[in-house]
Amino acid sequence: MVDSSTDSTASQSTREKGLCICPTPIGNLNDISQRQLEALRFADVILCEDTRTTGKLLELLGVKRVDGIPALCSYHEHNEASRLPQIMAFLKQDKSVVLVSDAGTPTISDPGFRVVSEARKNNFPVFALPGAVAAMVALSASGLPTDRILFEGFLPNKSGERKKRLESARDTGATVVLYESPKRLRTVLGEIKELFGDTPVVVGRELTKKFESFYSGTVDEILAELPDPLKGECVVVISCVTAQVDHLEAKRLVLRMANAGIEPKTIRSIVRDHYGVSKKEIFGWLEDRKQS
Ligand code: SAM
Repeated sequence: MVDSSTDSTASQSTREKGLCICPTPIGNLNDISQRQLEALRFADVILCEDTRTTGKLLELLGVKRVDGIPALCSYHEHNEASRLPQIMAFLKQDKSVVLVSDAGTPTISDPGFRVVSEARKNNFPVFALPGAVAAMVALSASGLPTDRILFEGFLPNKSGERKKRLESARDTGATVVLYESPKRLRTVLGEIKELFGDTPVVVGRELTKKFESFYSGTVDEILAELPDPLKGECVVVISCVTAQVDHLEAKRLVLRMANAGIEPKTIRSIVRDHYGVSKKEIFGWLEDRKQS
């Protein structure tokens, strides 16, 4: 139900002193909300990843800075810790401190966690405004199950570590959401195919922007559809329901065949053909069986 006092309540809260976590649009400026605009207008200090990017955003939004107020203070992954004392001093002086990132919601695969945690530890007021998160935009438009979700953010750089993370994500059975660069997307899709088989996947590209596009289907179908070269920001959503069921079935079949005395080589070849499970994983199951 919409509260009829929403406007006046919003005006008060965004002018409150304390730390305000303020999302900004992920591509479409019209997605800025009244409360976000107000928080930016009435801030004493805006903590931002890049003062030029946020300065430009304020200009586009028509937020005027008079005598350098709101002050733009850089707060990024390399100075997160060293900035904390200064930010706590602002809060102690009862200033209104607004945290933004280059785009989307601060703290979500972006800096901010430390300052929020420190402000809470020191009992300063902390409040967050609702707004854009690329992961949620992609998920809500994906048509994949949303009852259980696992947000993995950016996967590790090394392929081995990435596959381990994907494997443990798959075994949760939840729908997995990832942030991925266009440069690495094809490689990661290949790894998803290797570990999840023909599970349904959706890629959301350039969300909320002019060239927004969605690619959905199995990994092979998506790979056939992706433009080359691939540009723009991407979110990958993976349904683990079928992948997890297939995986459990594959494991059960491996163990049943082994118990029936079938040769490991034959087991590997049958299960790989049928379920697309890797040789290494089947070997691991057979080894575990020997030891138990
Ligand atoms: N804090 C942001 C949020 O709330 O979504 C995420 C920041 S993270 C550093 C940037 C990544 O988010 C991109 O590499 C991409 O994977 C995803 N992303 C951000 N904007 C996007 C967009 N418009 N379309 C698709 N993906 C986007």
